[in-house]
Amino acid sequence: MRRRVITAFLAGSVLTFGVMILIGAGGTVKSPTGTAPDRYAYYPGTEHLDKDEIRLIACGTGLPAARRDQAATCFLAELGNGDKFLFDIGTGSAANIAALMIPYDFLDKLFLTHLHTDHWGDLATIWAGGWTAGRTKPLQIWGPKGATPEMGTAYAIEHFLKAYTWDATTRNFFLSAEPGKISVTEFDYKAVNAVVYQKNGVTIRSLPAIHAGDGPVSFILEYAGLKVVIGGDTFPNKWYIEYAANADLAIHETFLTPQDLVRLYGQSPGQAIAVGTQIHTSPQAFGKVMSTIKPRHAVGYHFFNEQATHDNILRGVLQTYTGPLSLAVDNMVWNITKEKITERMIVSPDQAWAVNGPNKPPKPPARGTVPDPISDFIKAGRWQPAEQAQATMVEQFKKENGLQ
Ligand SMILES: [Zn+2]
Ligand SMILES: [Zn+2]
Repeated sequence: MRRRVITAFLAGSVLTFGVMILIGAGGTVKSPTGTAPDRYAYYPGTEHLDKDEIRLIACGTGLPAARRDQAATCFLAELGNGDKFLFDIGTGSAANIAALMIPYDFLDKLFLTHLHTDHWGDLATIWAGGWTAGRTKPLQIWGPKGATPEMGTAYAIEHFLKAYTWDATTRNFFLSAEPGKISVTEFDYKAVNAVVYQKNGVTIRSLPAIHAGDGPVSFILEYAGLKVVIGGDTFPNKWYIEYAANADLAIHETFLTPQDLVRLYGQSPGQAIAVGTQIHTSPQAFGKVMSTIKPRHAVGYHFFNEQATHDNILRGVLQTYTGPLSLAVDNMVWNITKEKITERMIVSPDQAWAVNGPNKPPKPPARGTVPDPISDFIKAGRWQPAEQAQATMVEQFKKENGLQ
């Protein structure tokens, strides 16, 4: 690569003979009407994915407490064969998913590592939001069994749907009920490197994790000879060490330092040392995991990532690991092939609309086939001047669209 000294758009730099030489991001803009190469940004929906390529997107990397800058855990894997898999859907992450402008029909497969809200808190949003915005079929969820049935994924989803009875009942009158359904495939959380999904050249495996109670797991995604490990919440465990070894890209949590848990997260020192080093992974322990399994690229996440916390975590990690590393924030994206792994940031709209997929929306139920959830008493309260005020507009719209 030719080295150029430029003053703006710095993608990287090298120190040579004591002089900082700046490497341009993407070559030269040759005329005032030319286009600027953008090798450091990913604009969703604008890039072809090669057959043997994986695009992995961080849609949530934060914590259970809300922060506008960072949603809770969610990773989206997009594969060159067209398959897409969501891993966790933590609170707030659905807005980041929406900004990718992927038709909801392509976002129907969700794998849950465990049932803490910061890993499935936005299920409601993709369930009902996707239902109203173009998904034509049920959601499919894979998740671990619990030590008892009520601690498992199937129980959680059954009762999730019960909790949203009013939501579903009222939508079912106007929309097809089909996209509001959820199928659940449960698997044994104790099974080691067990196949939980296999189709179209994709294998997804599960590993036990050590976190807060029995049930949590991590996932391994295998595709086109590539191995991506999506670590759920866990203290470093022997299964991850054995089966995540030599991963192309290995994600593992690295938690806030105990000092920062006290300073910034309002925890007592006793809580902080237990949370930060017993049920989660400290930066030093994360580094030890990565220097042991030696992935081509390591990704740490699960902390509010700002200058101070980032630097404190990095200092801890560097005590035990100095290999390729991303300390993830939301909207970080990795393109993974046999040849190279590229980390970039996504540039996406704050005001994204849903994008139509190839499937026509299923027909709403015929009148009379689903009980009307609005009673005559409530209907009789409709204010007539409002009906009159909109009558011409309604009439015109119906005429234009051939409606009765
Ligand atoms: Zn958790
Ligand atoms: Zn968590």
